[in-house]
Amino acid sequence: MAKCPKCNTEVSKPRKTWKMAGRPDRTGKRMQLEIGLFDCPKCKKTFREVLSKKKI
Ligand SMILES: [Zn+2]
Repeated sequence: MAKCPKCNTEVSKPRKTWKMAGRPDRTGKRMQLEIGLFDCPKCKKTFREVLSKKKI
């Protein structure tokens, strides 16, 4: 579930998801981020949201 940053409509399903390695933090640990690409059905804006983070 993600919220459109423009009109606040909640979009339940991402059009696309992918995984991306984040930058290492201060201790040198990296996070793997799961990113979702959402399309707002109301205003047609496309936006991205981090769905989950985990250590790798
Ligand atoms: Zn919208």
